[in-house]
Parts: sequence; structure tokens; C-alpha cells
Amino acid sequence: MGFKNNIISTQDEYITSPFGVRPNPLGAGTEFHNGLDIVSSRGLQKTQDVWSIAIADGVVTDKHNGELIGHGIDILHDGKVLSRQYHFKSASVLKVGDKVEKGDRIGILGTTGRSTGVHLHFGVKTGSTKWDNGDYVDPTPYLDGTKNIAISSDNVIPAKIDTPEREIREYLSSKGLSLYAAVGIMGNLYAESGLKANNLQNSYEKSLGFTDDSYTAAVDKGTYTNFIRDCAGYGLAQWTYWSRKEGLFNAAKAQDKSIGNLNMQLDYLWFELTTSYRGVLDELRKAKSVREASDIILTKFEKPADQSEAVRVKRAGYAQSYYDNYLGWYAPEVPTMPEATLMPETPTGTITKGSKVTINANAKYYTGGTIPLWVLADVWYVSSISGDRAVLGKNVSGKNDIQSPINVKDLVYV
Ligand SMILES: [Zn+2]
Repeated sequence: MGFKNNIISTQDEYITSPFGVRPNPLGAGTEFHNGLDIVSSRGLQKTQDVWSIAIADGVVTDKHNGELIGHGIDILHDGKVLSRQYHFKSASVLKVGDKVEKGDRIGILGTTGRSTGVHLHFGVKTGSTKWDNGDYVDPTPYLDGTKNIAISSDNVIPAKIDTPEREIREYLSSKGLSLYAAVGIMGNLYAESGLKANNLQNSYEKSLGFTDDSYTAAVDKGTYTNFIRDCAGYGLAQWTYWSRKEGLFNAAKAQDKSIGNLNMQLDYLWFELTTSYRGVLDELRKAKSVREASDIILTKFEKPADQSEAVRVKRAGYAQSYYDNYLGWYAPEVPTMPEATLMPETPTGTITKGSKVTINANAKYYTGGTIPLWVLADVWYVSSISGDRAVLGKNVSGKNDIQSPINVKDLVYV
């Protein structure tokens, strides 16, 4: 029938969730997973999109854009086997009635519908030419072994739209966070806001008379002035407490960005984690499991009213879903050490030339100048020390170099 050997396999693509009963990735208990979840590491990268392709010749019988499926498509092969592929980033390029040949591009991998991360759901039914009347079967035999999947390495194109998921993951990876730590944060952010940076807490949309968009615009324009004190959760982490909202507001002003800007919010999140929540970050870095990392963020950073076991399990489920997608290729960026620091680190915590340090939240430059938020939020290498003056050189990613003296007492050895 032409199913086999029609798909190019590479080590970059793999099945993250098989057919059959599995733990519910989005909550408690178990569920029947009626297909395969397939991830392409390149499809999770910011710069690349990956096409899902037809597994065999056939004709398009249905096209979807639903709450659970997101964007997807059904194809009838050989008049008797139906395949369904979904969670596409946008509508399939095909329409009902289109004829396809094996390997044809049908949709771009995405995370629409009930999904926490970019992947393809691939299901197969037999026994009927109508999807609703057919029976689910394990799709694996319709691929060639475990490596041949419905994604082709020939089908990578430059990405046009960044998903928040990619932005957030890359941001956290650039901070050198472990996979446990990164997914612990991401699962909680997904629970809080669905990763939507301009998300206004639903219960306040009615009472304040705003949508996510109109609230954000009113705060940006200054026509709504109660952002800090209105007790409405907002943003990726659904910041609610006035002092945290004030911090977010000031960060937006300092960066001259919208209050709903994703990258600004990530900078603020990181600022919180490296200053007032540094203890949480230290604990998070030591987490040995997805559940542990997720619980740390839930109970010590997000601190919602409901921290019951059910909530913990649900959030850890989101985190696990990211973990499953990223496992095997997630690599935190290794800090580039400036040449001057390629010496053994002083283990005592004494700050010397080459030490890796963070800056106290309320510190000023030695000259009295205000230290920008992004500098406070980063980790730096000391390039020289003279008396109580420490000159900070490059940051851990090696991308920035500030060369401004700061009093040694305002630095913390990390
Ligand atoms: Zn699936």
C-alpha cells in the first residue's frame, strides 16, 4: 500500500508518547492516547518550522480547527485507512477533496488545540471510510519502525512566527537552567496564563470591563491607572500582589515596552528569581525531578490560594508534558568563560578576579548611577578588583560586557 519506507528518518525526530493508556499529560489519572505524539527537535527551535507530511497517497476527507485538535487534517489512504494529523501551527495548506501523494506537505508543526508544546499528534483508524465510524489502531505499523515518522528532514523551513513556548524555553535555556528547572517554570506559567503574556485574569475581565487586549492597551496608554493596585492577575505568571505588579510595571517602563511584552516579562520573572526569590531559584537549580521543580515554583513563587495535591499533580503534568517533548535535546547554554577567568574558581565564596557573581537588587554603580534591571538580573564575571571596587566584565552568556565598577559588598558569589 506504500506506507513503508516513505518517510525520511533522522535522529532529530522521535515519538514522545506512544499509542495506548498513558498518564494524563494535562491532569490527574490516566487516559487512552489514540495516536502517537511526535516531536522534531528542529520544530521546537525558534528559527525553523517543520512540515508534517502525508504518510501515503490519499485524499483529504476532513479539515479541523477545534478546541482539542487545533488545526488538523484527515486523509483517506487506498480507500480504507484513515490518518489524522493535528496540532498544526496554522490551517493545513490542503482542502477537503485534495489528492495527496506520500511525502506531500500538509501542515506545519505547532501546538494548537489541547497541547502544551510543539508536536504532531498522528492517529490512524480502520474499518470505515468515515472517521467517526472507524476504529483506532496503533499507527506504528504504518510507519517504518520507531524512527520513521510523519516528518521529513527535507521539510524544514525558516520559521515565520515565534511561539511563546519557544521564546520562553530559549530564554530559560540561555540562563543555564536544567531541564527540570525549565519545565517546572513552564508548566506553572502554562497553568497560570496559557503562556499568554497579555493575559488578564478571567474573573476580572467582567468586573473591570476589559479584554486581555483592551486592558493591556489602556495600561500602556496610561488611560487606565489602577494597574498596580487592582488585584487582577496579569501576564505570564499572573502577577497579582501590588508590589510585584509595580515591579512589572516599572520593568515595562524601563524597557519602553508594552506591559504585555513577552520578553520584558521574562526579564522581570528572571529579575524576581535572581533577587527577592533567589532562594527559590537556588532550590530550583537543585531539583531532581519534574514534580519537585514544579512544586517549588508552585508553592514558593506562584503561591496560588489553592495548593492542593490535585493542583500540584495538574501543574506537574503540564511540566511533564514539556519534559517529554524536550528530553533528549534540551541543552542549557553553557556560559562562555572569558579568557581571564579560565582559572580554578575560588571555592570559598570570596569574590576575586574571575568570580561569577550576581548583584544585590538595591545596589547602585560605584559612581552612584542606577543599575539597569537587565544588568541586575544577569550573572557576571568579575574582570578585576581594586580595594572595594569590583569591575564586572562579561555576563555568563558572554554577550554583554558592562565594565562598570560596583562595590564588592553589593556582589554575591554564585
Ligand atoms: Zn497525542
